[in-house]
Amino acid sequence: MASIILAAPLEGWVTPLEAVPDPVFAGRMMGDGVAIDPTGDTLHAPCAGRIIGLQASRHAITIETDDGAQILIHIGIDTVALNGTGFTTLVAVGDRVAAGDALIRFDLDLLVREASAVVTPILLTDATGFTLTDIAPAGWVKIGAPLMTLHTLAAEPAPAPDHNATPQADTTTTARRTLRIGLPHGIHARPAARIAALARETRATLTIEKDGRSASARSLTGLLGLSIALGDEIAVVAQGEDAATAADTLVTLLASGMNEAPDPVVTVVQPEDTTPLPDGALRGVCAAPGLAVGLVRHHQVSDVEVPREGRGEATERSAFDTALAALRTDIATQSATLKGPAREILVAHEGLLDDPDLHAATEAGIARGESAGFAWRTAIRTQADILRAGGNARLAERAGDLLDLERRLLALLLGSTSERHVYPAGTILIADDLLPSDLIAIADGLGGLCIARGGPTSHVAILAASMALPTLVAVGDAALAIPEGARIVLDANSGIVLPTPDARQIADAEAEQAAAARKRAEALAQASIACHTADGVRIEVFANLGAAVEAAPAVANGAEGCGLLRTEFLFLERDTAPTVAEQHHEYQAIADALEGRPLIVRLLDIGGDKPAPYLAMAPEENPALGLRGIRVGLAHTALLEDQLRAILAVTPIGQCRIMLPMISRVEEVRSVRLVLDRLRDELGITTAIELGIMVETPAAAVTADTLAREADFLSIGTNDLTQYTLAMDRANPAVASALDGLHPSVLRLIDQTCRGGATRGRWTGVCGSLASDPLAVPILLGLGVTELSAAPGVVPTIKACVRALTMEACRDHARAALACASATEVRALARRFAAQEIPA
Ligand code: PEP
Ligand code: MG
Repeated sequence: MASIILAAPLEGWVTPLEAVPDPVFAGRMMGDGVAIDPTGDTLHAPCAGRIIGLQASRHAITIETDDGAQILIHIGIDTVALNGTGFTTLVAVGDRVAAGDALIRFDLDLLVREASAVVTPILLTDATGFTLTDIAPAGWVKIGAPLMTLHTLAAEPAPAPDHNATPQADTTTTARRTLRIGLPHGIHARPAARIAALARETRATLTIEKDGRSASARSLTGLLGLSIALGDEIAVVAQGEDAATAADTLVTLLASGMNEAPDPVVTVVQPEDTTPLPDGALRGVCAAPGLAVGLVRHHQVSDVEVPREGRGEATERSAFDTALAALRTDIATQSATLKGPAREILVAHEGLLDDPDLHAATEAGIARGESAGFAWRTAIRTQADILRAGGNARLAERAGDLLDLERRLLALLLGSTSERHVYPAGTILIADDLLPSDLIAIADGLGGLCIARGGPTSHVAILAASMALPTLVAVGDAALAIPEGARIVLDANSGIVLPTPDARQIADAEAEQAAAARKRAEALAQASIACHTADGVRIEVFANLGAAVEAAPAVANGAEGCGLLRTEFLFLERDTAPTVAEQHHEYQAIADALEGRPLIVRLLDIGGDKPAPYLAMAPEENPALGLRGIRVGLAHTALLEDQLRAILAVTPIGQCRIMLPMISRVEEVRSVRLVLDRLRDELGITTAIELGIMVETPAAAVTADTLAREADFLSIGTNDLTQYTLAMDRANPAVASALDGLHPSVLRLIDQTCRGGATRGRWTGVCGSLASDPLAVPILLGLGVTELSAAPGVVPTIKACVRALTMEACRDHARAALACASATEVRALARRFAAQEIPA
């Protein structure tokens, strides 16, 4: 075994790697070694060798010893951001150097001021065939002092096959992805270390190519040697087992921004990004997919005149209170007639309307002598400006909700009626911006929506998606210049508007519209057939129901049962609890409409955001963490017993299964089972009734194996599971827009739930909104979910999606999704998977 001593390349304080303030170095992702906090300004060679790598930004250098060991020295932390300022190289790539030769001079003062740290790691980047000993302990060293000993291990006989070793490339399976680098400092040491770590974990061989040169993605120095900078186009090439997944996982990592940029940077070069825009086309952001061909109408709203001077404090205060009460009633009445996101958005508006800061600011304005309208408008606009200026695009999108409330309250204060527009069927509406209440009022018959401003997570965008209205946002001012009455193509799928389409473009768009309609019709035609994956695995596709009238249409859409009956519909907005007979009547009607298909009745999930006046519940500071879900039933046992009796009265009782909401402790399941068993005895029911749980808390997900001893099935409520995992209130519009059930943390909990359930032979389903998302379905199947309970309207689409999938592809895909760093990465991965695996 040959050995050489690596000498200290700098004078300074020796620091163990764990103390380096960067997890990539501290975690030894770049290699083993030690660091020095320098006091001098020149880096020297720690040993003789050849310079094989010198970063373009001159802050990192790699020397290869005669035995082939590669030593990387990285001056300071985050110094790549200096783009070479303060560094002078004294050698070039290919130069031979002797130990102690000066390599790089640097401006230590500048580094101390500008870099996050000057501590300099000295690392053996690939330990294959080498080992380090005698690493100097923390303390002072001078240049040339022994720092550590590098040993070259004798070549060993060929080892037995080891699946951790670099796999032999199976050249028959190759996946290639091209992308443009969006990392602000290119692939410097830190991203290179993360890429290499990922590559070491994949069984495929990953290579990165740039300008005809290539490097193994496992080799740090190889990657650094490619000098990949911001904007460079590179290819990721994977060969061998799971090649496509490996390539996609690496691309997803690169596209995530790798924490290098303040915001995630999406850099994948999709074919559509490189395709030049058709002549005159405008680009926008897709808020709701689809394609529309139609005549343009512009949506115009004029700002109302509001007097500044008030008519006296008491008069203005009373006018404000009256208008506020009237608006509350208007919103409540309107939301009672709506379902889904439209209703949720109005409920959020009710919350905003009671914002104490807005009230305080308005009252202060009134006290200064302003009119109620002027004070309200000022309060709203100040708040909206704060949201817009905060730099958070999603919060800025919430400003539209405030402006909506401004307009509605002013209309009530000033006695003006808000204008109501009726547009001819198929109109493509263009608006500078559109408020949620406008869209609720005018959406009927619209063919598409094109908004100059806005963002894809604004409430208008969410509403448009729930209405299946093809919508583009952020199209820019050019949209406003499209003449009224023009016939245009709005292609939300590709994110473009064609303001002056020619005959061929119109014909193409119409053909695409027809194809999409055909696909929907095909899905519907197949909807009544039991659902299996392409390789024959049975997946039950059920529907979520929230009222008896929804059951028959759900069956017509192919629902194979009801996977979640939200029984709250019977309990909310009334002064007394429904009787056993009332409840039984509804449950029976639903069971009958399902014509023998399974009916999973979720016990009352009340409390939190769903209060009931007849339940004495003390005010709670954190209702989402308080008395809600099954905790209410266990605190009000008469309510629980009545509901169980009503369910047990359904005939045939074998059609019903009972599901418990918001389980977090095994005692809750045991308590309900005791009551259920007692009631069955009392009623002389001998048929076993399945008692399952909803997995909606991280506690239930991580203990799914033990809960599965007590529960007959598990159904994941991804809406609540996401809110509790990400600690983001699903009813708070300020944060709810960032809730995404495809966040890797949620996926890992789903994975744990499926595994936990399987240890006891229990099935796991999903009844939260992920089950209605075709992008999520392949991942859910890959994680082991066998039942999906979706919104009734999407059941045909979900069934068609399942039929296109094979379990093997889903499992590989799910593995890649679990390894992603963010929901954005997972969505990007899922879109690529869908494009490859699910026929258009
Ligand atoms: C869920 O939390 O995912 C769920 C299905 O329950 P709900 O949306 O009714 O709270
Ligand atoms: Mg829930």
